[in-house]
Amino acid sequence: MLVVQKYGGTSVGTLERIESVASRVAKARDEGKDLVIVVSAMSGETNKLIEYAHYFSSNPSKREMDMLLSSGERVTAALLAIALNEMGHSAIALTGRQAGITTDNTHTYARIETIETSRLKTEINNGNIVIVAGFQGINKNGEVTTLGRGGSDLSAVALAGALNADACEIYSDVDGIYTTDPRIEPKAKKLDVISYEEMLELSSLGAKVLQNRSVELAKKMGVKIVAKSSFSDNDGTVITELDKQGDNMEEVLVSGVALDRNQARVSLRGVTDRPGIAAEIFSKLANENINVDMIIQNASENKTTNLGFTVPQNEIEDAKKVINSFDHDIESADYDESVVKVSIVGVGMKSHSGVAATAFSALAKSGINIEMISTSEIKVSMIIDEKYGELAVRVLHEVYGLDK
Ligand code: ADP
Ligand code: ASP
Ligand code: MG
Repeated sequence: MLVVQKYGGTSVGTLERIESVASRVAKARDEGKDLVIVVSAMSGETNKLIEYAHYFSSNPSKREMDMLLSSGERVTAALLAIALNEMGHSAIALTGRQAGITTDNTHTYARIETIETSRLKTEINNGNIVIVAGFQGINKNGEVTTLGRGGSDLSAVALAGALNADACEIYSDVDGIYTTDPRIEPKAKKLDVISYEEMLELSSLGAKVLQNRSVELAKKMGVKIVAKSSFSDNDGTVITELDKQGDNMEEVLVSGVALDRNQARVSLRGVTDRPGIAAEIFSKLANENINVDMIIQNASENKTTNLGFTVPQNEIEDAKKVINSFDHDIESADYDESVVKVSIVGVGMKSHSGVAATAFSALAKSGINIEMISTSEIKVSMIIDEKYGELAVRVLHEVYGLDK
């Protein structure tokens, strides 16, 4: 039996914790499992390295950022291998490149293209526990790349898929996927299972417990993920394909609530109202890799209109540059970083009406103003003032009975 286990930053946050991860790994090995272990950098390490870079430059080269950030995961991989060796287990640490992970050429947000598994298989066949530095690969030009924040989850899923592993276990400081972030709502309930579809929405909408791209890949490759805690032996949450017609699923309207704090709103006034203007603005934003989310366009007056949209907060400076290049077509722009996005997610919404209305009136009753709304078949998202973010999560969690 081959198992891929991934240990996140908190799980390897100190030398003592690395030691206790080593004991867990050793135990699984003693049970006869073949193991590929993916590790993150020690918690806070990636942020610290980013700060170091910003000491020298506000806009450091992305290639050099990848050189820098990939080092965090190498440290933990090597330390874990050393700890396991000391416990009498043969273990070997590999970088992303040595593990055969090839990506496209995008620095700091690369996509995995192929995994050449021969080295991994040789090491496993030689009886080694293979420890892989997460979050990184190499592109066709031999340059080191990283996979976006939280990307060790993606490394783990991709390796599990490529090796056709029997399980992909993702260990963090929570013992599974909850109805909402238990740090915000202590009454949140742990789910036994959740569908890829819902998990993908939750993580895309701010539930950082799994990186959204890892869920997308798991769905595509049919990798069943189990989210577990590295601090307990509790059963975790299984993320898998669910029968959407199942009676159970239909009864549950809303499965979870998510909060995304990485949001900013752009409001454009006096935008020339001519065919093609929206296409020009949004193509230019897309070309700069800016992820535009909610868009609102008002009815026009006197051949101009107002346009509002949201972008991730860390892309706002890039967005400003793009908007400034439209000085003929846009009268004025303002930027608001004090907003958050709160969302409800559930496949049951597909077949029920009134789910969104319940959310709107619950927020209204708490005096929370909704600034923007977007919906899909299985989610409703609302932009609100950041100071009400956590309150909104608790209000929505309660109104859909998720604490029951
Ligand atoms: P790691 O560093 O191991 O990758 P993360 O910090 O990325 O772990 O993810 C775990 C955290 O995700 C938890 O501490 C929890 O606060 C947060 N979280 C957000 N939403 C949820 C949710 N719906 N269920 C469980 N945890 C959640
Ligand atoms: N260390 C990286 C990050 O903090 C990758 C990861 O932990 O998954 O984003
Ligand atoms: Mg994570």
